[in-house]
Amino acid sequence: MKVCKVLLRECVRQTDKAYTYKIPSDMEEKVVQGSYVKVPFGFGNRKQIALVVSVSDYTEDLGFAPSKLKDIDSLLDLYPVVNKNQLAMIEPLKSRLLCTSGDVITMMVPSAVGTVAKAKASFVSIKSREEAEAVLASGKLRSVTHIHILEQLLANGPTERKTLLASAKATDAQLRGLRDKDLIEITTRMLTRDEIESEVQSPAEVSSDSFRVVHELNDEQGKAYKEVCDSLGKPQVFLLHGITGSGKTEVYLKCAGEVLDRGGCVIYLVPEISLTPQTVSWIRGRFGDTAAVMHSRLTDRQRFDEWDRIRRGEARIVVGPRSSIFAPVEDLKLIIIDEEHDSSYKSESFPRYNTRDIAIMRMKLSSCPLILGSATPLVTSYYSAQKGVYKLLKLNKRAAEDAVLPEVTVVDMKKQIQEGYGELISGPLRVAMAKAFSKDQQVMLFLNRRGYARTLVCSTCGEPANCPNCSVAMTLHNYRRSSERLLICHYCGYTIPSGECVCRECEGTKFKRAGVGTQQLEEMLKELYPDRKVLRMDQDTTMQPGAHERILGEFRDHKADILVGTQMIAKGHDFPSVTVVGVLGADLISMSSDYKSSERAFELITQAAGRAGRGNEPGKVFLQSLHTDNPLLMYAASQDYEAFYESEIAYREVMKLPPFKAVGEVVLSLPDEDMLMKRTADVGRYLKDFLSYQDKSLGFELYGPVPAPIYELRGRYRNVFMIKSHKKSYLNEVYRQIMEDFDPNLYPLSFDNDAGGS
Ligand code: ADP
Ligand code: ZN
Repeated sequence: MKVCKVLLRECVRQTDKAYTYKIPSDMEEKVVQGSYVKVPFGFGNRKQIALVVSVSDYTEDLGFAPSKLKDIDSLLDLYPVVNKNQLAMIEPLKSRLLCTSGDVITMMVPSAVGTVAKAKASFVSIKSREEAEAVLASGKLRSVTHIHILEQLLANGPTERKTLLASAKATDAQLRGLRDKDLIEITTRMLTRDEIESEVQSPAEVSSDSFRVVHELNDEQGKAYKEVCDSLGKPQVFLLHGITGSGKTEVYLKCAGEVLDRGGCVIYLVPEISLTPQTVSWIRGRFGDTAAVMHSRLTDRQRFDEWDRIRRGEARIVVGPRSSIFAPVEDLKLIIIDEEHDSSYKSESFPRYNTRDIAIMRMKLSSCPLILGSATPLVTSYYSAQKGVYKLLKLNKRAAEDAVLPEVTVVDMKKQIQEGYGELISGPLRVAMAKAFSKDQQVMLFLNRRGYARTLVCSTCGEPANCPNCSVAMTLHNYRRSSERLLICHYCGYTIPSGECVCRECEGTKFKRAGVGTQQLEEMLKELYPDRKVLRMDQDTTMQPGAHERILGEFRDHKADILVGTQMIAKGHDFPSVTVVGVLGADLISMSSDYKSSERAFELITQAAGRAGRGNEPGKVFLQSLHTDNPLLMYAASQDYEAFYESEIAYREVMKLPPFKAVGEVVLSLPDEDMLMKRTADVGRYLKDFLSYQDKSLGFELYGPVPAPIYELRGRYRNVFMIKSHKKSYLNEVYRQIMEDFDPNLYPLSFDNDAGGS
């Protein structure tokens, strides 16, 4: 008789252990290590999904009489859903992420496994065209969403429910509302073969305009490539530091190609935002069916299919966003993380993993190299490279023969304002734009809003309201419970009523909200250049699925002359006819409240500047700033990463910030503000006592509580404690203890051992 040990997918801490089940004889052949099964669990024998972690013959040592063991109910998928390699990661991931085995399993196995075979979908259609048109014309429909739904159905005919909900930004309840009015019909049916196929290859992804030439590597690239190849078979982290356009991608592709030629497998991670249809298309062009590409436009079924091809070894290179680090790749020989600094590599929901940490774990388990690539590496990564923990590979020049670095000008906006140009578009930028337009070239204007709409700047001199202790911008908070708005430092908790703020630069007492929005900028451009077409890309214009690609596509096809946007447009996109880039409010970028803001500012400016002159025409970049003496701008203007690094690492050392100390967070969130205050005090007292008993050599420091940067979110209020210590693992120990000592129902706490993005 065979038995197996399983882990439950939906486990809680009490049930997070291996349970033993009997394998019925007719399933003996099929149930193996890594199988996904259903098992009866608990008194009610409710069916639960579980992962088989080991299979063995029954022996008495098990400590169960055979009659006490329950049978496996059914097998969900014919093939194992995780391999040995992934099984080995479950325990270390659990302890690192303070989550359950079930949480890990959920990250590794697509939710569609076991359900996807029934390719069913619901469709929505209009009951009567005449009636729908009449209702719309009558103006009787109150809900804008209802109007949208009807309009879309009239225009497009029957539509899959999911697609319709997304494009009309509607909810199921709203759909039901229309059905109850007898205007629409919702039906569920099997998808036809054609519908499934057409999902698999959406037309945008087979276009050939995004063909990517294969280049002979230049000397620098060749050297990097060789170093990586020499390390195949060994665990080694490489930091590939190369300016934008230096040909890093070409190096990744060549290394990946080499591994594939040798029969191995590759995980190639890129930020979600760069997985445009163009990228997907050239990856398919280059690797064909050997590649599985995981991007957000895939349906559940397509996601399952891609995943399935990986697990069966049909696809040997996986290209995808952070979640692809969990892919069921068997013979892993190389991991690549492109744009390693990108904040999307840190997951923002539980379990809050950092992709780099997991990649390093996998690198060790598979004994293979890991390439981290970036034009602006994280300070912590560069530090590791300086210390020799990572091997540094450098690409110092742009790869395309005729490509030159853009010419960067820092524009003093104080002067420009005095000269009457206003705070948006300076004289020099206007001149450059006029020249570009006369040659039918394009312009990108970049206006970052991250963080700064929530801070105040001095009306007289433009200096942000900084914390007197930490010299970072304080954040503006509207407390329901206090009539006055408060300025709070998210580092040390320093708090003052906004009315009492005094400018530390000019002693002014008048403050205003910082920055203007992309919308205002767009309006101004329309006024200044009435015959030029302007596209805007920001959170508001990219709510609809596909909007992002549509805007970029239109701009690439030169259907517009100016693209205005937030940080979304700064990354990775290649527009050969863009010759002028303006970074507006360059100094405001670093005004967000966490310690990584300078690093991000440098990155964003470098990325934005990197958009100029990617074709044959040299680019011009204008950094408009109220503080032209800000060293960060100087470094960014001269694209001098090393200088930036030196100043930043010195600051981090003084402030005891990563890599010198780990910085973690404990967040308490509750729907009731008074309750939050009371329980925050409890947690605060506990932390203070607990940490003061710890050995001094662990380096614990406690800060806060302060309100979370976004204090009120989805009906809950959140307070944050910051804890520093010498190691991330010490923070984990503290978190583990808190979890034991606080009832999660009364104290909904969440933890992060690497606060503030990736
Ligand atoms: P990065 O990833 O560093 O930003 P890419 O790999 O995208 O840079 O390369 C930038 C441009 O240079 C691309 O258009 C690419 O085709 C071209 N390129 C890359 N390597 C070479 C090479 N060895 N010779 C000529 N052109 C190259
Ligand atoms: Zn402070």
